[in-house]
Amino acid sequence: MTDLSQGIAFIDDEYVPVAEARIPVLDWGFLHSDATYDVAHTWHGRFFRIEDYLDRFHTSMAKLRMSVPYSREQIRAIMFELVKRTGLRDAYVEIACTRGLPAPGSRDPRNCQNRFLAFAIPFVWIADDKLRQQGLNLLISEQQRIPPESVDPQIKNYHWLDMVMALFEAYDHGADTVVLVDAAGNLVEGPGFNVFARSGNTVITPARGVLEGVTRETILELLSREKLDVRQDLLPATLARSAQEVFITSTAGGVMPVTRIADETVGDGRPGVLTAKLNDAYWSLHADPKYSVAIDY
Ligand SMILES: *Cc1c(COP(=O)(O)O)cnc(C)c1O
Repeated sequence: MTDLSQGIAFIDDEYVPVAEARIPVLDWGFLHSDATYDVAHTWHGRFFRIEDYLDRFHTSMAKLRMSVPYSREQIRAIMFELVKRTGLRDAYVEIACTRGLPAPGSRDPRNCQNRFLAFAIPFVWIADDKLRQQGLNLLISEQQRIPPESVDPQIKNYHWLDMVMALFEAYDHGADTVVLVDAAGNLVEGPGFNVFARSGNTVITPARGVLEGVTRETILELLSREKLDVRQDLLPATLARSAQEVFITSTAGGVMPVTRIADETVGDGRPGVLTAKLNDAYWSLHADPKYSVAIDY
């Protein structure tokens, strides 16, 4: 029997065990990475900031001129239903829209019927418990992130070849993960996360060329309560290397400390005090009804 707690997908109007969910090879989502997606999560049985993820997903679909036969309310209901059916308290909930199948022989995207799919699986961590405790070793890649002039980074997308190859580069150097740069060598983002650096009283997160993460936004909100100079600006590699604290943020893990950059220690080499404070505050918000909504299992 299939263990439904390993995940359930919703595709082509049906709920199926996630391992059985399939899309046709001719779907442009597969052939051309012509798709957008979003990832929300539940924590202790509550969806976190679900409306923000739905907003972003609908904006992405509109920018890509995609539409699906499900309303926002129906998509939200599908997300709840997926989690309920898995019984998972801590879940990773992905929603996606692919361009779909073109008419036979056609290359006209207007003729594609867009496909909606979604799945809920056990919560996914970018970094395991040990790494989150000791901090990550981050490589600053020389690989440039696809520039915002080419692909709008506000649209959460599957254009990951730059990031996947940069991950190989990081592993070759013994690093745990990687952050990519822009043409001028400023830090941009990594595979599924945003980056922050604190030098003295100043905290910087890259302003341009990044997906504006819901976690990034939450951290900016939490930072606005501190007596700190918080900027969305350029983050040059030299500044990141000399910072006292560096951390990365993602739905898949919250706030994760970086304690080495290419084997040089960041600050005193231990996870930063601000990083820990923000991480605690971030997870506390998950029980706050202003930020989260309970699932009725
Ligand atoms: C999803 C993602 C992030 C992080 O966004 P969150 O909403 O915080 O999960 C950052 N960069 C990229 C490229 C992403 O795909």
